[in-house]
Amino acid sequence: MEQSLAQLSITEAAKKMQAGEITSVDLTRACLVEIQKRNASLNAYLEVFDDAEERAKAADARRAQGESGALLGIPLAIKDNILIEGRVASASSKMLENYTATYDATVIKKLKDAGVVFLGRTNMDEFALGGSTENSAFGVTKNPRDERRVAGGTSGGSAAAVAAHMALGALGSDTGGSVRNPASFCGVVGLKPTYGAVSRMGLMAAVSSFDQVGPLTKTVADAELLFEALRGQDPLDSTSAPSNQYAKRTLRKKIGVPRHLLAEGVDAGVRAAFDQTLAEMEKQGFEVVEVTLPSLSFALAAYYITNFAEVSSNLSRFDGVRYGLSQKGDSLFADYAKSRGEGFGAEARRRIMLGTYVLSAGYYDAYYGKATAARAQLTAELSAVLESVDAIATPTMPSPAFVIGEKSDPLSMYVADIFTVTANLTGNPAISVPMREVSAGEAKLPVGIQFIAAHGDESALFALGAVVESISTVRSE
Ligand code: GLN
Repeated sequence: MEQSLAQLSITEAAKKMQAGEITSVDLTRACLVEIQKRNASLNAYLEVFDDAEERAKAADARRAQGESGALLGIPLAIKDNILIEGRVASASSKMLENYTATYDATVIKKLKDAGVVFLGRTNMDEFALGGSTENSAFGVTKNPRDERRVAGGTSGGSAAAVAAHMALGALGSDTGGSVRNPASFCGVVGLKPTYGAVSRMGLMAAVSSFDQVGPLTKTVADAELLFEALRGQDPLDSTSAPSNQYAKRTLRKKIGVPRHLLAEGVDAGVRAAFDQTLAEMEKQGFEVVEVTLPSLSFALAAYYITNFAEVSSNLSRFDGVRYGLSQKGDSLFADYAKSRGEGFGAEARRRIMLGTYVLSAGYYDAYYGKATAARAQLTAELSAVLESVDAIATPTMPSPAFVIGEKSDPLSMYVADIFTVTANLTGNPAISVPMREVSAGEAKLPVGIQFIAAHGDESALFALGAVVESISTVRSE
Protein backbone atom coordinates (compact mmCIF):
# COMPACT_ATOMS: atom_id res chain seq x y z
CA MET A 1 0.00 0.00 0.00
CA GLU A 2 1.23 3.46 -0.87
CA GLN A 3 1.85 5.68 2.13
CA SER A 4 -1.51 7.16 3.16
CA LEU A 5 -2.50 9.49 5.99
CA ALA A 6 -4.89 6.74 7.08
CA GLN A 7 -1.87 4.72 8.22
CA LEU A 8 -1.01 7.24 10.92
CA SER A 9 -1.66 6.47 14.55
CA ILE A 10 -3.98 8.82 16.43
CA THR A 11 -1.04 10.29 18.31
CA GLU A 12 0.93 10.97 15.11
CA ALA A 13 -2.09 12.43 13.33
CA ALA A 14 -2.87 14.73 16.24
CA LYS A 15 0.69 16.08 16.17
CA LYS A 16 0.52 16.76 12.44
CA MET A 17 -2.83 18.50 12.76
CA GLN A 18 -1.57 20.63 15.62
CA ALA A 19 1.49 21.56 13.53
CA GLY A 20 -0.84 22.60 10.71
CA GLU A 21 0.64 20.01 8.32
CA ILE A 22 -2.66 18.22 7.74
CA THR A 23 -6.34 18.76 8.45
CA SER A 24 -9.09 16.55 9.75
CA VAL A 25 -10.65 16.70 6.29
CA ASP A 26 -7.42 15.24 4.82
CA LEU A 27 -7.41 12.43 7.38
CA THR A 28 -11.08 11.67 6.99
CA ARG A 29 -10.82 11.58 3.21
CA ALA A 30 -7.81 9.26 3.45
CA CYS A 31 -9.87 6.83 5.57
CA LEU A 32 -12.81 7.10 3.17
CA VAL A 33 -10.48 6.17 0.30
CA GLU A 34 -9.38 3.01 2.14
CA ILE A 35 -13.02 2.21 2.92
CA GLN A 36 -13.83 2.60 -0.75
CA LYS A 37 -11.03 0.18 -1.63
CA ARG A 38 -11.63 -2.56 0.90
CA ASN A 39 -14.93 -2.41 2.74
CA ALA A 40 -16.97 -4.14 0.06
CA SER A 41 -14.95 -7.31 0.53
CA LEU A 42 -14.02 -7.02 4.22
CA ASN A 43 -17.52 -6.02 5.41
CA ALA A 44 -16.12 -4.15 8.42
CA TYR A 45 -18.57 -1.23 8.22
CA LEU A 46 -22.29 -1.84 8.04
CA GLU A 47 -22.79 1.82 7.24
CA VAL A 48 -20.43 4.65 6.39
CA PHE A 49 -21.85 7.95 7.62
CA ASP A 50 -22.65 10.56 5.02
CA ASP A 51 -21.67 13.46 7.29
CA ALA A 52 -18.09 12.42 8.10
CA GLU A 53 -16.49 15.12 5.94
CA GLU A 54 -18.85 17.72 7.30
CA ARG A 55 -17.86 16.78 10.85
CA ALA A 56 -14.21 16.90 9.86
CA LYS A 57 -14.73 20.45 8.56
CA ALA A 58 -16.36 21.39 11.86
CA ALA A 59 -13.38 19.96 13.76
CA ASP A 60 -10.96 21.93 11.57
CA ALA A 61 -12.99 25.06 12.30
CA ARG A 62 -12.72 24.39 16.04
CA ARG A 63 -8.95 24.04 15.72
CA ALA A 64 -8.82 27.28 13.76
CA GLN A 65 -10.58 28.90 16.73
CA GLY A 66 -7.73 27.80 19.00
CA GLU A 67 -8.88 24.41 20.30
CA SER A 68 -6.15 21.77 20.46
CA GLY A 69 -7.41 18.50 21.98
CA ALA A 70 -5.61 15.31 20.96
CA LEU A 71 -8.82 13.77 19.60
CA LEU A 72 -10.04 16.87 17.79
CA GLY A 73 -10.68 15.85 14.17
CA ILE A 74 -9.63 12.19 14.61
CA PRO A 75 -11.75 9.82 12.48
CA LEU A 76 -12.94 6.73 14.41
CA ALA A 77 -15.22 3.76 13.78
CA ILE A 78 -17.96 2.81 16.25
CA LYS A 79 -19.31 -0.66 17.00
CA ASP A 80 -22.95 -1.04 16.08
CA ASN A 81 -24.15 -1.59 19.67
CA ILE A 82 -23.17 1.91 20.85
CA LEU A 83 -25.87 4.53 20.39
CA ILE A 84 -25.33 7.62 18.28
CA GLU A 85 -28.37 9.89 18.27
CA GLY A 86 -30.22 9.85 14.96
CA ARG A 87 -28.25 6.88 13.60
CA VAL A 88 -29.32 3.28 13.14
CA ALA A 89 -27.92 1.04 15.89
CA SER A 90 -28.69 -2.55 14.95
CA ALA A 91 -26.29 -4.64 17.09
CA SER A 92 -26.03 -6.61 13.80
CA SER A 93 -29.48 -8.07 14.47
CA LYS A 94 -32.56 -8.28 12.26
CA MET A 95 -34.39 -7.32 15.44
CA LEU A 96 -32.98 -3.78 15.32
CA GLU A 97 -32.26 -3.44 11.61
CA ASN A 98 -34.40 -0.32 11.43
CA TYR A 99 -33.92 1.01 14.94
CA THR A 100 -32.68 4.59 15.17
CA ALA A 101 -31.03 5.69 18.41
CA THR A 102 -32.80 8.52 20.19
CA TYR A 103 -29.85 9.64 22.30
CA ASP A 104 -26.05 9.49 22.47
CA ALA A 105 -24.26 6.94 24.63
CA THR A 106 -22.16 8.69 27.27
CA VAL A 107 -18.97 7.59 25.49
CA ILE A 108 -20.29 9.11 22.25
CA LYS A 109 -21.14 12.35 24.01
CA LYS A 110 -17.59 12.50 25.35
CA LEU A 111 -16.07 11.85 21.94
CA LYS A 112 -18.33 14.43 20.30
CA ASP A 113 -17.21 17.00 22.84
CA ALA A 114 -13.61 16.05 22.06
CA GLY A 115 -14.30 16.67 18.34
CA VAL A 116 -14.02 13.09 17.07
CA VAL A 117 -15.27 12.36 13.54
CA PHE A 118 -17.46 9.24 13.34
CA LEU A 119 -16.83 7.38 10.10
CA GLY A 120 -19.51 4.75 10.46
CA ARG A 121 -20.86 1.82 12.44
CA THR A 122 -19.08 -1.51 12.41
CA ASN A 123 -20.15 -5.12 12.10
CA MET A 124 -20.28 -7.44 15.10
CA ASP A 125 -21.74 -10.71 16.31
CA GLU A 126 -25.45 -10.19 16.94
CA PHE A 127 -25.93 -8.52 20.35
CA ALA A 128 -22.23 -9.21 21.09
CA LEU A 129 -22.74 -12.97 21.32
CA GLY A 130 -19.92 -14.88 19.66
CA GLY A 131 -16.22 -14.76 18.96
CA SER A 132 -15.81 -14.35 15.20
CA THR A 133 -18.42 -11.90 13.83
CA GLU A 134 -19.93 -14.90 12.01
CA ASN A 135 -23.10 -14.42 14.09
CA SER A 136 -23.90 -11.09 12.42
CA ALA A 137 -27.24 -10.96 10.61
CA PHE A 138 -25.42 -8.93 7.94
CA GLY A 139 -22.59 -11.25 6.90
CA VAL A 140 -19.19 -12.08 8.32
CA THR A 141 -16.31 -9.59 8.58
CA LYS A 142 -13.16 -10.89 6.92
CA ASN A 143 -9.66 -10.66 8.34
CA PRO A 144 -7.69 -7.98 6.47
CA ARG A 145 -4.56 -10.19 6.64
CA ASP A 146 -6.20 -13.21 5.04
CA GLU A 147 -9.72 -12.86 3.76
CA ARG A 148 -10.45 -16.57 4.13
CA ARG A 149 -10.27 -16.06 7.86
CA VAL A 150 -12.40 -14.37 10.50
CA ALA A 151 -11.48 -10.99 11.97
CA GLY A 152 -12.46 -12.26 15.42
CA GLY A 153 -15.35 -11.04 17.45
CA THR A 154 -17.54 -9.75 18.61
CA SER A 155 -15.98 -6.37 17.71
CA GLY A 156 -14.64 -7.83 14.45
CA GLY A 157 -15.73 -4.90 12.29
CA SER A 158 -13.98 -2.38 14.54
CA ALA A 159 -10.73 -4.39 14.63
CA ALA A 160 -10.73 -4.97 10.87
CA ALA A 161 -11.44 -1.28 10.21
CA VAL A 162 -8.40 -0.26 12.25
CA ALA A 163 -6.12 -3.01 10.88
CA ALA A 164 -7.02 -2.10 7.28
CA HIS A 165 -6.55 1.65 7.93
CA MET A 166 -10.21 2.37 7.32
CA ALA A 167 -10.17 4.29 10.64
CA LEU A 168 -7.43 5.59 12.94
CA GLY A 169 -9.03 3.80 15.89
CA ALA A 170 -12.36 2.37 16.96
CA LEU A 171 -14.66 1.64 19.85
CA GLY A 172 -15.66 -1.91 20.63
CA SER A 173 -17.28 -3.57 23.60
CA ASP A 174 -15.95 -6.44 25.67
CA THR A 175 -18.15 -8.87 27.58
CA GLY A 176 -15.84 -11.88 27.59
CA GLY A 177 -13.05 -10.82 25.26
CA SER A 178 -14.78 -9.07 22.37
CA VAL A 179 -12.25 -6.25 22.14
CA ARG A 180 -9.17 -8.38 22.88
CA ASN A 181 -10.05 -11.35 20.65
CA PRO A 182 -10.38 -9.39 17.38
CA ALA A 183 -7.41 -7.23 18.39
CA SER A 184 -5.31 -10.39 18.61
CA PHE A 185 -6.65 -11.79 15.32
CA CYS A 186 -6.17 -8.54 13.38
CA GLY A 187 -2.87 -7.37 14.87
CA VAL A 188 -4.07 -4.28 16.73
CA VAL A 189 -4.20 -3.18 20.39
CA GLY A 190 -7.40 -3.80 22.38
CA LEU A 191 -8.20 -2.65 25.92
CA LYS A 192 -10.94 -3.92 28.26
CA PRO A 193 -11.07 -1.33 31.04
CA THR A 194 -11.75 -2.09 34.71
CA TYR A 195 -15.46 -2.81 35.17
CA GLY A 196 -17.08 0.54 35.97
CA ALA A 197 -14.23 2.67 34.61
CA VAL A 198 -16.21 3.57 31.48
CA SER A 199 -19.94 4.35 31.41
CA ARG A 200 -22.23 1.71 29.92
CA MET A 201 -25.02 4.22 29.35
CA GLY A 202 -26.03 3.84 25.71
CA LEU A 203 -24.12 0.59 25.20
CA MET A 204 -26.68 -2.10 24.43
CA ALA A 205 -26.62 -4.53 27.33
CA ALA A 206 -25.42 -8.07 26.68
CA VAL A 207 -24.19 -9.11 30.13
CA SER A 208 -24.55 -6.04 32.31
CA SER A 209 -22.14 -7.27 34.98
CA PHE A 210 -19.38 -7.95 32.40
CA ASP A 211 -19.80 -5.34 29.62
CA GLN A 212 -17.29 -2.53 29.10
CA VAL A 213 -16.65 -0.27 26.13
CA GLY A 214 -13.00 -0.38 25.07
CA PRO A 215 -10.73 1.10 22.39
CA LEU A 216 -9.14 -0.72 19.44
CA THR A 217 -6.09 1.12 18.19
CA LYS A 218 -2.83 0.77 16.30
CA THR A 219 -0.65 1.61 19.31
CA VAL A 220 -0.70 1.34 23.08
CA ALA A 221 -0.30 5.12 23.39
CA ASP A 222 -3.48 5.55 21.34
CA ALA A 223 -5.34 3.10 23.61
CA GLU A 224 -4.31 5.16 26.61
CA LEU A 225 -5.39 8.38 24.91
CA LEU A 226 -8.84 7.00 24.17
CA PHE A 227 -9.19 5.42 27.61
CA GLU A 228 -8.44 8.80 29.19
CA ALA A 229 -11.15 10.37 27.06
CA LEU A 230 -13.74 7.69 27.81
CA ARG A 231 -13.31 6.99 31.50
CA GLY A 232 -15.07 8.66 34.40
CA GLN A 233 -18.05 8.21 36.66
CA ASP A 234 -21.44 8.78 35.04
CA PRO A 235 -24.56 9.64 37.03
CA LEU A 236 -26.50 7.80 34.30
CA ASP A 237 -24.70 4.50 35.02
CA SER A 238 -24.94 3.45 38.66
CA THR A 239 -22.26 0.79 38.12
CA SER A 240 -19.68 3.32 36.94
CA ALA A 241 -16.95 3.84 39.50
CA PRO A 242 -15.44 7.03 40.94
CA SER A 243 -12.52 8.21 38.85
CA ASN A 244 -10.14 8.04 41.79
CA GLN A 245 -10.09 4.24 41.54
CA TYR A 246 -7.74 4.85 38.61
CA ALA A 247 -4.31 5.42 40.07
CA LYS A 248 -0.86 5.26 38.57
CA ARG A 249 1.36 2.86 40.49
CA THR A 250 5.03 2.09 40.07
CA LEU A 251 5.87 -1.10 38.20
CA ARG A 252 7.42 -3.95 40.15
CA LYS A 253 8.69 -5.42 36.86
CA LYS A 254 7.24 -8.78 37.81
CA ILE A 255 4.85 -10.81 35.63
CA GLY A 256 2.83 -13.84 36.75
CA VAL A 257 2.13 -16.70 34.34
CA PRO A 258 -0.49 -19.35 35.14
CA ARG A 259 1.39 -22.18 33.39
CA HIS A 260 -1.28 -24.69 34.44
CA LEU A 261 -3.72 -22.96 32.09
CA LEU A 262 -1.34 -23.24 29.13
CA ALA A 263 -0.87 -26.98 29.40
CA GLU A 264 -3.25 -27.98 26.63
CA GLY A 265 -5.24 -26.62 23.73
CA VAL A 266 -2.82 -23.84 22.81
CA ASP A 267 -1.49 -23.71 19.24
CA ALA A 268 2.25 -24.49 19.14
CA GLY A 269 3.06 -21.28 17.27
CA VAL A 270 1.15 -19.16 19.79
CA ARG A 271 2.92 -20.87 22.68
CA ALA A 272 6.33 -20.25 21.08
CA ALA A 273 5.48 -16.61 20.41
CA PHE A 274 4.38 -16.19 24.02
CA ASP A 275 7.54 -17.79 25.43
CA GLN A 276 9.77 -15.72 23.14
CA THR A 277 8.02 -12.52 24.20
CA LEU A 278 8.43 -13.33 27.88
CA ALA A 279 12.09 -14.21 27.31
CA GLU A 280 12.60 -10.79 25.65
CA MET A 281 10.91 -9.13 28.62
CA GLU A 282 13.26 -10.97 30.98
CA LYS A 283 16.18 -9.52 29.04
CA GLN A 284 14.72 -6.11 29.80
CA GLY A 285 14.81 -6.79 33.52
CA PHE A 286 11.35 -8.28 34.07
CA GLU A 287 10.99 -11.21 36.41
CA VAL A 288 8.57 -13.88 35.20
CA VAL A 289 7.11 -16.08 37.94
CA GLU A 290 4.67 -18.94 37.85
CA VAL A 291 1.36 -18.31 39.61
CA THR A 292 -1.46 -20.67 40.48
CA LEU A 293 -5.12 -19.72 40.27
CA PRO A 294 -6.97 -22.93 41.11
CA SER A 295 -10.42 -21.55 40.22
CA LEU A 296 -9.33 -20.73 36.67
CA SER A 297 -10.52 -24.19 35.75
CA PHE A 298 -14.08 -23.01 36.48
CA ALA A 299 -13.76 -19.72 34.59
CA LEU A 300 -15.33 -20.79 31.29
CA ALA A 301 -18.25 -22.58 32.93
CA ALA A 302 -18.93 -19.71 35.33
CA TYR A 303 -18.64 -17.20 32.51
CA TYR A 304 -21.05 -18.94 30.15
CA ILE A 305 -23.66 -19.73 32.79
CA THR A 306 -23.66 -16.10 33.90
CA ASN A 307 -23.62 -14.93 30.29
CA PHE A 308 -26.64 -17.03 29.31
CA ALA A 309 -28.54 -15.94 32.43
CA GLU A 310 -28.02 -12.22 31.92
CA VAL A 311 -28.45 -12.40 28.13
CA SER A 312 -31.83 -14.13 28.53
CA SER A 313 -32.90 -11.38 30.87
CA ASN A 314 -31.46 -8.46 28.85
CA LEU A 315 -32.89 -9.66 25.54
CA SER A 316 -36.38 -10.06 26.99
CA ARG A 317 -36.99 -6.38 26.23
CA PHE A 318 -37.13 -7.22 22.53
CA ASP A 319 -40.71 -8.43 22.57
CA GLY A 320 -41.99 -7.06 19.28
CA VAL A 321 -43.95 -4.38 21.13
CA ARG A 322 -41.51 -1.87 22.54
CA TYR A 323 -38.51 -2.04 20.23
CA GLY A 324 -37.53 -3.16 16.79
CA LEU A 325 -39.00 -5.92 14.70
CA SER A 326 -42.72 -6.43 15.26
CA GLN A 327 -44.54 -9.34 13.64
CA LYS A 328 -48.23 -10.10 13.98
CA GLY A 329 -49.52 -13.56 14.82
CA ASP A 330 -53.04 -14.58 15.79
CA SER A 331 -52.60 -14.01 19.53
CA LEU A 332 -50.38 -11.95 21.81
CA PHE A 333 -48.23 -15.02 22.43
CA ALA A 334 -47.92 -15.61 18.70
CA ASP A 335 -46.84 -11.97 18.25
CA TYR A 336 -44.00 -12.53 20.70
CA ALA A 337 -43.02 -15.89 19.26
CA LYS A 338 -43.01 -14.62 15.68
CA SER A 339 -41.13 -11.40 16.43
CA ARG A 340 -38.49 -13.08 18.58
CA GLY A 341 -38.27 -16.17 16.40
CA GLU A 342 -37.65 -14.11 13.27
CA GLY A 343 -35.71 -11.26 14.88
CA PHE A 344 -33.05 -13.27 16.72
CA GLY A 345 -30.41 -15.45 15.10
CA ALA A 346 -29.50 -18.96 16.24
CA GLU A 347 -26.89 -17.97 18.84
CA ALA A 348 -29.16 -15.44 20.56
CA ARG A 349 -31.99 -17.98 20.67
CA ARG A 350 -29.65 -20.65 22.06
CA ARG A 351 -28.50 -18.36 24.86
CA ILE A 352 -32.00 -17.18 25.70
CA MET A 353 -33.10 -20.79 26.14
CA LEU A 354 -30.06 -21.86 28.16
CA GLY A 355 -30.24 -18.72 30.29
CA THR A 356 -33.89 -19.24 31.06
CA TYR A 357 -33.03 -22.79 32.06
CA VAL A 358 -30.16 -21.94 34.43
CA LEU A 359 -32.30 -19.30 36.14
CA SER A 360 -35.39 -21.43 36.54
CA ALA A 361 -36.59 -22.67 39.93
CA GLY A 362 -34.91 -25.98 40.73
CA TYR A 363 -31.84 -25.27 38.58
CA TYR A 364 -30.88 -21.83 39.84
CA ASP A 365 -28.86 -23.17 42.81
CA ALA A 366 -27.16 -25.85 40.76
CA TYR A 367 -26.03 -23.49 37.97
CA TYR A 368 -26.38 -19.75 38.47
CA GLY A 369 -25.69 -19.94 42.21
CA LYS A 370 -22.57 -22.06 41.71
CA ALA A 371 -21.31 -19.81 38.91
CA THR A 372 -21.68 -16.80 41.19
CA ALA A 373 -19.71 -18.56 43.93
CA ALA A 374 -16.95 -19.55 41.49
CA ARG A 375 -16.79 -15.98 40.25
CA ALA A 376 -16.29 -14.64 43.79
CA GLN A 377 -13.61 -17.24 44.48
CA LEU A 378 -11.74 -16.43 41.29
CA THR A 379 -11.92 -12.70 42.02
CA ALA A 380 -10.35 -13.28 45.44
CA GLU A 381 -7.60 -15.52 44.05
CA LEU A 382 -6.74 -13.06 41.30
CA SER A 383 -6.51 -10.05 43.57
CA ALA A 384 -4.28 -11.99 45.98
CA VAL A 385 -1.90 -12.91 43.13
CA LEU A 386 -1.91 -9.34 41.81
CA GLU A 387 -0.55 -8.11 45.11
CA SER A 388 2.87 -9.46 44.20
CA VAL A 389 3.00 -9.07 40.39
CA ASP A 390 2.19 -6.21 38.01
CA ALA A 391 0.02 -8.38 35.82
CA ILE A 392 -0.89 -11.88 34.77
CA ALA A 393 0.27 -12.74 31.24
CA THR A 394 -1.27 -15.28 28.85
CA PRO A 395 -1.68 -15.42 25.10
CA THR A 396 -4.87 -13.50 24.27
CA MET A 397 -6.28 -16.33 22.17
CA PRO A 398 -5.19 -19.98 21.99
CA SER A 399 -4.80 -19.76 18.19
CA PRO A 400 -4.38 -17.24 15.38
CA ALA A 401 -7.47 -16.23 13.36
CA PHE A 402 -9.29 -19.34 12.17
CA VAL A 403 -10.84 -20.03 8.79
CA ILE A 404 -14.42 -18.83 8.26
CA GLY A 405 -16.83 -21.67 9.11
CA GLU A 406 -14.18 -23.72 10.94
CA LYS A 407 -15.83 -23.44 14.35
CA SER A 408 -19.40 -24.24 13.46
CA ASP A 409 -19.87 -26.13 16.74
CA PRO A 410 -20.71 -23.48 19.37
CA LEU A 411 -18.72 -25.26 22.08
CA SER A 412 -15.51 -25.06 20.06
CA MET A 413 -16.07 -21.31 19.79
CA TYR A 414 -16.72 -20.98 23.54
CA VAL A 415 -13.50 -22.74 24.61
CA ALA A 416 -11.43 -20.28 22.56
CA ASP A 417 -12.38 -17.68 25.22
CA ILE A 418 -10.40 -19.50 27.90
CA PHE A 419 -7.90 -16.65 28.44
CA THR A 420 -10.18 -13.64 28.04
CA VAL A 421 -13.27 -14.37 30.17
CA THR A 422 -11.48 -14.18 33.53
CA ALA A 423 -11.02 -10.40 33.41
CA ASN A 424 -14.77 -9.97 32.82
CA LEU A 425 -15.73 -12.35 35.62
CA THR A 426 -13.49 -10.46 38.04
CA GLY A 427 -13.83 -6.93 36.65
CA ASN A 428 -10.07 -6.48 36.21
CA PRO A 429 -8.64 -4.45 33.31
CA ALA A 430 -6.91 -6.36 30.50
CA ILE A 431 -5.10 -5.49 27.29
CA SER A 432 -4.12 -7.37 24.15
CA VAL A 433 -0.98 -6.20 22.33
CA PRO A 434 0.35 -7.73 19.07
CA MET A 435 3.45 -9.78 19.92
CA ARG A 436 4.53 -11.92 16.94
CA GLU A 437 3.39 -13.45 13.71
CA VAL A 438 2.79 -17.16 13.44
CA SER A 439 2.34 -19.41 10.41
CA ALA A 440 -1.13 -20.75 9.68
CA GLY A 441 -1.42 -22.51 6.34
CA GLU A 442 0.18 -20.18 3.83
CA ALA A 443 -0.57 -17.14 5.92
CA LYS A 444 1.51 -15.27 8.48
CA LEU A 445 -0.89 -14.08 11.12
CA PRO A 446 -0.48 -11.75 14.09
CA VAL A 447 -1.18 -12.97 17.63
CA GLY A 448 -1.55 -10.95 20.81
CA ILE A 449 -0.30 -11.24 24.36
CA GLN A 450 -2.75 -10.41 27.12
CA PHE A 451 -1.99 -8.75 30.45
CA ILE A 452 -4.51 -8.58 33.30
CA ALA A 453 -3.79 -6.03 36.06
CA ALA A 454 -5.32 -5.06 39.40
CA HIS A 455 -8.57 -3.06 39.44
CA GLY A 456 -7.88 0.51 38.37
CA ASP A 457 -4.33 -0.28 37.29
CA GLU A 458 -4.68 0.36 33.56
CA SER A 459 -1.41 2.25 33.76
CA ALA A 460 0.45 -1.04 34.36
CA LEU A 461 -1.16 -2.40 31.20
CA PHE A 462 -0.02 0.60 29.17
CA ALA A 463 3.51 0.33 30.55
CA LEU A 464 3.75 -3.40 29.85
CA GLY A 465 2.08 -2.95 26.48
CA ALA A 466 4.70 -0.39 25.48
CA VAL A 467 7.45 -2.86 26.36
CA VAL A 468 5.84 -5.54 24.17
CA GLU A 469 5.42 -3.03 21.38
CA SER A 470 9.14 -2.29 21.46
CA ILE A 471 9.99 -6.00 20.97
CA SER A 472 7.02 -7.04 18.84
CA THR A 473 7.68 -8.38 15.37
CA VAL A 474 4.15 -7.76 14.06
CA ARG A 475 4.27 -5.51 11.03
CA SER A 476 1.39 -3.25 10.26
CA GLU A 477 -0.18 -3.90 6.83
N1 GLN B 1 -16.96 -14.81 23.00
C1 GLN B 1 -17.61 -14.39 24.21
C2 GLN B 1 -19.07 -14.75 24.15
O1 GLN B 1 -19.48 -15.28 23.19
C3 GLN B 1 -17.40 -12.93 24.45
C4 GLN B 1 -18.34 -12.04 23.75
C5 GLN B 1 -18.15 -10.60 24.09
O2 GLN B 1 -17.16 -10.21 24.72
N2 GLN B 1 -19.14 -9.79 23.73
O3 GLN B 1 -19.79 -14.48 25.05
